[in-house]
Amino acid sequence: MGLVNRDLVLRRRMVEEQIRRRGIHDERLLSVMEEIPRHLFIPEEHHHDAYADAPVPIGEGQTISQPYIVAEMTKALRLSGTEKALEIGTGSGYQTAILARLCREVVTVERLPSLLDGARRLLEELLIDNVIYVAGDGSLGSPEHAPFDRILSAAASPRIPTPWLSQLEEGGILVLPVGTRSEQELTRVTKKEGKPFTDFLGGCRFVPLLGEHGFRE
Ligand code: SAH
Repeated sequence: MGLVNRDLVLRRRMVEEQIRRRGIHDERLLSVMEEIPRHLFIPEEHHHDAYADAPVPIGEGQTISQPYIVAEMTKALRLSGTEKALEIGTGSGYQTAILARLCREVVTVERLPSLLDGARRLLEELLIDNVIYVAGDGSLGSPEHAPFDRILSAAASPRIPTPWLSQLEEGGILVLPVGTRSEQELTRVTKKEGKPFTDFLGGCRFVPLLGEHGFRE
C-alpha cells in the first residue's frame, strides 16, 4: 500500500473512532475531515502523531489542536456553507482548511509570520483559494474585512475581545476558549438583537491569545 493510502486509512479511523464515536454526526464536517491531509500540516518529526487523539507541536511553541476539538469547535459554528468567517490563530492552517471547505470565505489572522506563510503555501498547494491571510494581532479582529457571520479563535483569551463582538453580524456565532492561561471553557456566543448570548461547551486547554485584547506578551 502506498503512503497516500496509508494516510487515508489513518484518517478514516481518526474520523470514526475519535469523532463520530464521540457523537459528532455532521456528515459534511466528517467528510471534510476525512479529505484534508492532516499530516501535511504537521512537521516531519511529528508525522507519526498526525492522526493521534492529541494536540501536536507545530513549531514556535504552538500546537495544532486535537482532531476532536477541531470537530467540536467547527460543529459549534453551525455552518451552512454561505458564511464569511474570521479565524484567529492560523497556526498550521489545518483548521483554516476545514473552515474554507465549509464556508464561503475565510479571513485568517496569525501573529507569527512564519506560521502564516507556511499555512498559506500549503493551502495554495491544496488549491484552497477562498482564504484571505492577515499577519498581525487578531485580538483586534480584522476591521478591514468585517463584518463576519462566524468567528473562531484557536487561542485562549481572558475575556471575549470586544472587537470580535462588534465585528460579528446580527445572528452570528463566535466560538472561543475563555479562561486563564492554563485552563479555559470552550465558549459560544450568539449575537441576537445586538446582544451576546453565551453557552459553555466544556473545559479545554489552548495556547494563549497574545495581544491587546488577550494576554500580555
Ligand atoms: N488552528 C491552529 C491552531 C494554532 S494554535 C491549527 O490548526 O494549527 C493558536 C495560534 O494562535 C498560534 O499559532 C498563535 O501564534 C496564534 N496567536 C496567538 N495570539 C494571537 C493573536 N493575538 N493574533 C493572531 N494569532 C495569535
